[in-house]
Amino acid sequence: MANTVVVAGGGPTGLLVATELRLAGIDVVVIERALEPPKESRGLAFQARSLDVLNKRGLKARLGDDIPVFGRNHFALYWVDMESLGVPPMYVLPQWRVEEVLEERARELGADVRRGHEIIALAQDEDGASVTVRDGEGAEYELRGEFLVGADGGRSTVRKLAGFEFPGTGSGFYGILADVAEFEDDRERVEVGLFPGGVSGEVQLGPDRLRLMTTEFDVPAPDDSVPVTIEELKESIHRISGKDVKIAEPRWLSRFSDSTRQAAAYRQGRILLAGDAAHVFYPIGGQGLNTGLQDAFNLGWKLAAEIKGWAPEGLLDSYHDERHPVGAQVILNTRAQLALLHPLDKIGPLRELFGDLLKIPEVGRYLLNLVAGWGIRYPISYEGRDDAADLLGRPVPDAELKTAGGTTDVASTLHTGRGVLLDFSAGSADLAALTGFGDRIDVVAAEPVTEIAAAVVLLRPDGHIVWADPDGSDTEGLAAALLAWFGTPAEQ
Ligand SMILES: Cc1cc2nc3c(=O)[nH]c(=O)nc-3n(C[C@H](O)[C@H](O)[C@H](O)COP(=O)(O)OP(=O)(O)OC[C@H]3O[C@@H](n4cnc5c(N)ncnc54)[C@H](O)[C@@H]3O)c2cc1C
Repeated sequence: MANTVVVAGGGPTGLLVATELRLAGIDVVVIERALEPPKESRGLAFQARSLDVLNKRGLKARLGDDIPVFGRNHFALYWVDMESLGVPPMYVLPQWRVEEVLEERARELGADVRRGHEIIALAQDEDGASVTVRDGEGAEYELRGEFLVGADGGRSTVRKLAGFEFPGTGSGFYGILADVAEFEDDRERVEVGLFPGGVSGEVQLGPDRLRLMTTEFDVPAPDDSVPVTIEELKESIHRISGKDVKIAEPRWLSRFSDSTRQAAAYRQGRILLAGDAAHVFYPIGGQGLNTGLQDAFNLGWKLAAEIKGWAPEGLLDSYHDERHPVGAQVILNTRAQLALLHPLDKIGPLRELFGDLLKIPEVGRYLLNLVAGWGIRYPISYEGRDDAADLLGRPVPDAELKTAGGTTDVASTLHTGRGVLLDFSAGSADLAALTGFGDRIDVVAAEPVTEIAAAVVLLRPDGHIVWADPDGSDTEGLAAALLAWFGTPAEQ
């Protein structure tokens, strides 16, 4: 099958990769083991950066106007008020809802999403990758793509079968997550609390739904084959907090761990890894979904460009180069947070000191931005061009744009998934270098905006700034940036 990408896994990462590929007109088949979309969610905390990504594809509106804002986030259970620090808010949005919107969009754009199908074997050669799929009836069939994307979660079959190295540490922690209908405690309700033996917390999700979450330190989780029960949860809460609680009607129960690993390479020939398949870490601060969505956003357009034939040399490999350090940074901060939680008898003085440090606004801002993935900037620079260097590599901020055709905003200019040249020069910039890029880049002329201090700005399809010229006079610079990110111009 030509021009096809096979995506393993229809979780948030795989579904966003699929929508990105379809936007670029690439055929895509998503193989998802689960027959039904999820009705429950591990993820609940949704970062502003994730919302920014969905906004750049016109999907924010589908999530509704009133996504609840969770005004606080924490670093290692030191709670910090995000608003007072000027840090973008964190939202409360169940992961299943994000997946629902992404699946709807992927199907709408023509992605072939096959639920109840599972990848069980694979092989790759120079021209592509083949997978063996088992369908819902147990019948097996072969599927071939020019590329295979492993977005099949932390236990990724693709990663294992393709032999990607996945160094890191196994789990010594044991976590239970439960959504329950009723929860009673004779003395007092359990609150998010740090105890010598672990963490026990709760979040009210609605009038009849409470989320309980425990983590026990230095205790390995029981084997997966042992079903998780409400008794197990009660015993865990008791061991951690000493409290005896009455819990009725569990809606959903699952276990998790602090297994921390990252694929040594995100690409191996025709196979790429994204999301949890590429990195796993302890779920603290709501970082997993955000990291996976940004992997997908970074990868989708590069893979499409490679398949369409206009990708400059090294573009696809820049996926690993840009995203691996981000995954490593997330792993570092989750490990640092865990180190500040346990063992309490040894780190008590450090916690006290760290708590004082966090009262310094710059420190709080730095750490929360780290957790939110807000400060991410890819290493893009051009020799001799330091004047606009501060913008390069950053995601473009959203801003209202006044154009000859009316008012729009920066995010809307990216909805088609193409590159965008924002021309704020009132016609004075020399844009001759753009000739031959009309099939990849849209030009939007608008009045200058204070949020973006440049006369000419070139955006990749994922909204990261790859060229910024203060006065629009550097024609050679623009030509070099186009060549670096959008390949050679089409013949006129
Ligand atoms: C307890 C807990 C709480 C969390 N809370 C948050 C939070 O609040 N905020 C946040 O951002 N993140 C949170 N996370 C992390 C977040 O849930 C994950 O990072 C996110 O689900 C990763 O998405 P993904 O698409 O990469 O992988 P997944 O969501 O795991 O999706 C992978 C998909 O692949 C499918 N699959 C697997 N193997 C195969 C196969 N062989 N063939 C076909 N399909 C296959 C699976 O069925 C699954 O649908 C939490 C995680 C845990 C454990």
